[in-house]
Amino acid sequence: MAENIERPIGLTAKPTRPQDFYDSVKRKYAEERDLRLKYRPNGLSQYTYELTGELAKYEIDTYAEPPKPREPINDAVECLFIGGGFSALLTSARLREVGVESIRIVERGADVGGTWYWNRYPGISCDVVAYDYMPLLDELDYIPKDHYAGGPEIFAHCQAIARKYNLYELATFQTTVTSTSWDAAEQLWHVETDRGDHMKARFVICANGILTKPKLARIKGLESFKGHSFHTSRWDYAYTKHDLSGLEDKVVGIIGTGATAVQAVPKLGAAAKELYVFQRTPSSIDFRDEWPTDPNWARKLGTGWQAQRRERARREPQMSEDQKARYAAMSAEEKLRRQENANVEAMMKIHERIDRIVKDKATAESLKPWYMLMCKRPCFHNEYLPTFNRPNVHLVDTHGKGINEITEKGPVFDGKQYELDVLIYATGFEVQKTGTYNLIKGVNGLNLNDKYRDGVRTLLGVQSHGYPNLFIMGGLQASFQFNFTDISQAQGEYIADCVKYVRNHGLQSLDVTPQAEEWWVQEVIEHRGKTNFNQECTPGYYNFEGEFQRRQDGNYNGGFFQYCRHLNEVRERMEDHFTFGGKTLTSK
Ligand code: NDP
Repeated sequence: MAENIERPIGLTAKPTRPQDFYDSVKRKYAEERDLRLKYRPNGLSQYTYELTGELAKYEIDTYAEPPKPREPINDAVECLFIGGGFSALLTSARLREVGVESIRIVERGADVGGTWYWNRYPGISCDVVAYDYMPLLDELDYIPKDHYAGGPEIFAHCQAIARKYNLYELATFQTTVTSTSWDAAEQLWHVETDRGDHMKARFVICANGILTKPKLARIKGLESFKGHSFHTSRWDYAYTKHDLSGLEDKVVGIIGTGATAVQAVPKLGAAAKELYVFQRTPSSIDFRDEWPTDPNWARKLGTGWQAQRRERARREPQMSEDQKARYAAMSAEEKLRRQENANVEAMMKIHERIDRIVKDKATAESLKPWYMLMCKRPCFHNEYLPTFNRPNVHLVDTHGKGINEITEKGPVFDGKQYELDVLIYATGFEVQKTGTYNLIKGVNGLNLNDKYRDGVRTLLGVQSHGYPNLFIMGGLQASFQFNFTDISQAQGEYIADCVKYVRNHGLQSLDVTPQAEEWWVQEVIEHRGKTNFNQECTPGYYNFEGEFQRRQDGNYNGGFFQYCRHLNEVRERMEDHFTFGGKTLTSK
């Protein structure tokens, strides 16, 4: 029956209740946010990002043998990528199209894939529709198996891209870049690594991802736990076994209830003797519209179907004349109120869904998120909520406080000791440090991190004045999309065009002019000042855990369409935005 078919709620719910209702929900949102900010005034530094000493084990690659000794590499390539995930793979494909032959990926993992190399936890999947998320489907003549792809299929696709574009040949795995310095005389980057390499490259592309380094909450006694423990991005299958049968007789705990935990918990609940889920803030869980790809639909897809689909998605939504007139007649306050009410309505539908699915009333209440949808990454899952109906699964609601103490037996909350065999950290990653992880020394030896100390300064989030031939993908001051590969596609095409321009004009380098950089910084500032949405959100990585941020130290909020338009404008008028080997070219 059509009315019984569940559909994702998204932001389509219409506000139909009295304004008092929406106002009271917003007051509750503010209380819940303030509670969390009071518990954690230390913002981003509540986490530890340097996993060294006793914590080093949480970062060890569990998927590959330790690296074998090898001779240092001392050669020169045209384009060098730091990181081998989708950003590098996509951009490499575009670079091949403009004729670049010498491409090297330098990657910490033992293969390409980035996020999809590291994250192999049970249940891993992507919440963006596979036909949009998985790039280069036309080029590889591949159609995803399902509406939403699982981790292994996406990882295999990454490997297929690397094979198709011949990227394994020069790739250097299990290698971490330690410094990248510009040599003005040679007009080349010198790249050093933890394996003693000293490579040179004409262009360097920082493609080290937005969620790269696993982080841990600074919890008293974390190191004292005597049971087994690991981070979700370094899943220990040697311990759990691939079918998780190793957990059959184990009491398992998981800290964190973000997008990763939402996917892993159903598998853990089904496999473990007992499972304790330690929750600080619940995620919003919407219906996931899963189905296998219809072979009839797939058969009818013509050449270039994904490119056409992407083109449609990049087109700005059009309003009718009537809609435009009504929108223009509304005051700014009215527009905001309507948006907020619709958002609250959507969240109330998420709450109703919890009530329908979760049998225990107290557990259902605990699982209800009290913040605007999109304050945290929205989740889509059909088994997460039902997992809490299992007798062996226990939600430990810490009411915003979180776990602050761990003993040798396991976490303690509210004076109660939880004795565990295994403790899994689903506490997330350091965010958007791409481009600033390692020492990057530009013209005059200035470290990029030092330049950013007084505020991030870029053109389009991709280039920064004083760092010729350096490109940053997925960094700050760029647009931030739910579908990460949308951004990589747009930036990859732009980067390939910049490289092509330099090559085709017999040049050696390009560098952003200070004026072009200043223009973009002001664009970012202007668009980030328009709403208080971020400040009003519950803390999380989307709003830097509630920390104050200079307006320029975030993402470009002018929208993806506008961002792509600016990328096009710049590449159509390169001469107006760059100098070339220190010289200005005049535009035609
Ligand atoms: P997140 O940063 O989203 O989540 C970390 C979790 O740890 C939060 O629930 C946080 O609570 C909790 N936490 C931290 N410290 C404590 C503590 N002391 N006690 C209890 N809980 C604590 O990390 P994820 O790995 O879940 O996700 C990261 C991102 O990766 C996602 O947002 C998404 O972009 C991507 N991803 C996408 C997926 C998809 O497509 N479905 C799947 C997986 C990941 P609090 O909320 O209170 O801060």
